[in-house]
Amino acid sequence: MKILKEYLAEAGNDGLAIGHFNISNLVQLKGILSAVKKTGVPVMIGTSEGEADFIGFKMARAMVDAVREETGLPIFLNADHFHSFEKVKEAIDAGYDSVLIDLSRENYKKNLEETKRVVEYAHSVNPAISVEGELGYLVTESSKVYKESFEIPSESLTKPEEALKYVNETGVDRFAPAVGNLHGIAANEPKLDFELIKKIRAVLPSEVAMVLHGGSGIPDDQMREAVKLGFNNIHISTEIRVAYVDALRKMLAAAPEETTPYKIYKPVIEAVASKTAEKLELFGSVNKI
Ligand SMILES: [Zn+2]
Repeated sequence: MKILKEYLAEAGNDGLAIGHFNISNLVQLKGILSAVKKTGVPVMIGTSEGEADFIGFKMARAMVDAVREETGLPIFLNADHFHSFEKVKEAIDAGYDSVLIDLSRENYKKNLEETKRVVEYAHSVNPAISVEGELGYLVTESSKVYKESFEIPSESLTKPEEALKYVNETGVDRFAPAVGNLHGIAANEPKLDFELIKKIRAVLPSEVAMVLHGGSGIPDDQMREAVKLGFNNIHISTEIRVAYVDALRKMLAAAPEETTPYKIYKPVIEAVASKTAEKLELFGSVNKI
């Protein structure tokens, strides 16, 4: 089986994107997997620091190993938005395939130095580990559905010349810019800055994957354009969580006497599967990779 970097490069060359979906538990994983099985596409399963602590690092690794073995599909485990070297090290030492060291809220110098340290450690353990760094910051929090609208301050956006320097000096395999995207879902539609996306993609080395965070809530037409312009990895979390809790609330209300967890979670798994399938289709990778 190819390593993640090879799949991302392939996706980039073909103008497609690989999906990244977060999980907190086995129910989400089963839902995502049910969509992935039907399409056979490579996929990244992410755990944030909170999700990894909840599942357990070794348990997350074991779950993904089990589904890889069961399906034979290229399913990769990513430490998503880890905020310190120590925490990333925990993930690497537990056998994660991929990490995102997110120091985008720190000053440029600290972000650069610590990200470089993570890249060096990860690649010394296993050169196949894909490391992502982030420059520019997203103004909202992951996985929240906001009632308010957000204006994106221009100082939060990634500057192309800084991006190039950052990528070259840190040696990251994947780069996440801020280009008008938001974490979570805001009341207003996000407006991706396509000119900025083009400029950043143009300065990045071709072997570096470009990652779009906050994919939830981005309208389909903007998403297609973003993939076309070179985002070859897209993160979806909030929409999956919303599908999950909506289905769960509905099930609990409809069957208040039901006590069997696997029966309660059946419609939840189906809801997660259908949302995942919708996104995979949108990223263009179905039947292509
Ligand atoms: Zn993110």
